[in-house]
Order: sequence, then structure tokens, then C-alpha cells
Amino acid sequence: MKTPRSSTPVSRRTFLGQLSTAAAAALALAPRRLRADDAQRPPKGYGVALVGLGNYSATRLGPALKLTDHCHVAGVVTGDPKKGREWSRHYGFSDKNVYGYETMGQMAGNPDIDIVYVVTPNALHAQHCIAAAKAGKHVICEKPMATSVADCDAIIAACRAANVRLFVGYRLHYEPHNIELARLAREGTFGPFMRIAGENGFDMGSPDAADRNWRVNKKLAGGGPLMDMGIYVIQAACMVKVEAAPVSVTAKFGPVTRPEVFSEVEQSLNWTMEFADSASAKCFTSYADQVSHFRADADGGWAEIEDPAFYYEEPILRTSRGTPNLPKVNHQVAQLNGMAVELMSGRPTIASGEMGRRDIAIVEAIYAAAASGKRADVNA
Ligand code: NDP
Repeated sequence: MKTPRSSTPVSRRTFLGQLSTAAAAALALAPRRLRADDAQRPPKGYGVALVGLGNYSATRLGPALKLTDHCHVAGVVTGDPKKGREWSRHYGFSDKNVYGYETMGQMAGNPDIDIVYVVTPNALHAQHCIAAAKAGKHVICEKPMATSVADCDAIIAACRAANVRLFVGYRLHYEPHNIELARLAREGTFGPFMRIAGENGFDMGSPDAADRNWRVNKKLAGGGPLMDMGIYVIQAACMVKVEAAPVSVTAKFGPVTRPEVFSEVEQSLNWTMEFADSASAKCFTSYADQVSHFRADADGGWAEIEDPAFYYEEPILRTSRGTPNLPKVNHQVAQLNGMAVELMSGRPTIASGEMGRRDIAIVEAIYAAAASGKRADVNA
């Protein structure tokens, strides 16, 4: 069980000492007037309801929520009430906090739940995020934010209308090696990164078809490895361009060697993103290749994240100046700590809905370019 938290207000120094290094560093950078206000922290920390009790919730987010400083599992939304009750026993919350997808609206009257974390198949994110916002809860939406820009817009609008905060589950923004990479880009340590290359994928291996695996079901996934794995490469490339979006893309679907699996979504995809300053990023994603690497070159140096660059294992940043000595963190704990600090401080999040929308605008342009064989503009 989670260590009980004290409801006694803590000093800023104590509070910072309790944070992960990444969250503390991020908080220390915040403007003074926006720094964490302990008075805004609910006495028991933030109660989080996980929506969709699949692999990521069960193996990563639930366990991480036991280790975070300011959050705990306070409820679940699931299509399987029996599984929900198993969660309530394991995480120590009331059975009344087990909801179904159709009853999410009833969370509105439940003070145990402050944040709803949506961890369902990609195409369902919009409906579940909107239901959470309408219930008056802050929203964390897993990546990819949605399967269309229109759905991203609908999520952003619902959160604005309900006056709740919106975060996208981009865990690497809270991870020290990636924070350092972003700093190198922002401060122009090597000059602007101009030649970028990244790849991310895994070998799905099994012959699961779309009726058994939502990741290869276009209606539920919205697309193939680009939506699921390629989005990390898009994220990293934009990060080293100081969060600029590319202006145009070219793209080509890879060959389909397993048609029994990849009848609805692509098996692999190569694409190039072109930025306004003539920088370009050559990228690859796949459900048939185990790849995970990222490199960015500038005239004055380079930075690389070794394989596995985007997995949960600690990524290792190397640069032309050496290998910085950075702490190992649990990605999900760092993300949840960072988001809790952003929430209680009122500081804008570094993993915003607008960023999630930008990435889906890039994804839409990549699919358009691959389908047409022509360069496509990005309207991010
Ligand atoms: P799973 O298939 O393991 O779990 C998805 C869960 O969603 C199911 O177990 C089910 O939960 C619920 N669900 C609701 N409707 C459906 C439906 N029609 N079909 C299938 N499941 C449904 O997926 P993951 O946990 O791997 O991924 C979920 C989301 O999390 C995805 O958007 C993915 O991109 C993201 N993710 C992010 C990661 C990261 O590192 N940030 C890592 C892994 C995933 P229940 O039975 O409780 O209703």
C-alpha cells in the first residue's frame, strides 16, 4: 500500500526534497509566482481514476501511482466490474469508485477523484477525455492524444469549457536525459540541430489479426506503428527543434510481409520532416522491427539517445561533449510527479493538449503524404 501522506503543510524546501530530480528541476525553473503552492494540494494528494485497465495501467501506471509523491489510485473505469473490484481491493479504494464507461458522468459528485487518466485504445481517448472533463475532473490523456486533429480539438474545447487541466501522457518530457536534450536544443549549445534521424518500433511477432488486437484495428488504433511508436520520433524531433513543428513531410509505406496481420494499418513507414530553417528529420517506425534510436547533428556538435531511446529502460544521452551523468528514474513516477507539480503550481504543462494536437496534425500529414506519394504541408 501507499505510504500515508501527512496533511500537515510542508515547507518549500521539504517539498522540493520529496520530488524526483526531474520534477524538482522543472519546478525550480518555474517563475516565482507560479511555484508550487502547498495550500492548493489536496490533503490526501490527488486521487487518480485510471480509465481502461489493460497492460499499461496494470503494469506501469498503477504501480507507479503507489510510488508518487502527490497522487494515488482512487478509482477506475473499466468494462469489467470484477477486474474493477480486484483493483479496489489491491489499491485500497471504495468499490463505489469503480465505474463503467457509460457511468463516467457519475464521477462528478465524487470528491475522491481529482484526475482522470485515460488509458484506452487510441480512438476512444476523445470520448473518455470529454466524459472526464464534463465530470469536472482534470484529464491526463495517453499518447497518441487522439486519432484525428478534430478529436484533439474536441478534447481541448471540453477541458476549456469545464475549466479543468489537460495533460498528454508524454512521459519522456519528465525524464532527465530528455530534459537535458531539450536544454541543449533550447540553449543552442551546439547551434541549431539540422540533421536529425530517429526510429522506433517493435516486432509484434504474433500473428494476431485486427479482430483480436486493437493496435492493428484501424477503427480503434487510428493507424499503425506511426500512431503508437512513430509518435515518439516525432516528439523527439520537435523537441530538438525547440518544439517547432515541421512545415512539410514526405513519406512512404514499407512493404507488407505479414498481410494476415497488417490488412488495415501499415506494417512500417519511412518519413522525412522538413523544418522552416531547412533542418530535416529522417524517421522510421515499424511493427515488425525492434528499433529505438535517436540522433541530432548540429554544426557545433551532436546528441544521441542510444538504443533503446524510447522504451521504459533508462535512455542514455551521449553528446559530442561526453555522456552527462544523469539520474535513473521510473518514467511513470517522474511523469506523474511532474504533472502533479504543474497542477498544484498552476504552471503550464510541458506535455500539453496543444502539443498532442500538433503531433496528430503531423501524423495526418505523414499519412496524407504516404497515400499520395507527394509532399504534404503540415498545418499544426
Ligand atoms: P491494452 O489493450 O493492454 O489495454 C486497453 C484497455 O482499454 C483494455 O484492457 C480495456 O480495459 C480498455 N478498453 C475499452 N474499450 C476497449 C476496446 N474496444 N478494445 C480494447 N480495449 C478496450 O492497451 P495498452 O494498455 O497497451 O494501451 C492503452 C493506451 O495507452 C494506448 O493509447 C497506448 O498508446 C497507451 N500506451 C502508452 C504507453 C506509454 O509509454 N506512454 C505505453 C503503452 C500504452 P478494461 O478491460 O478495463 O475495460
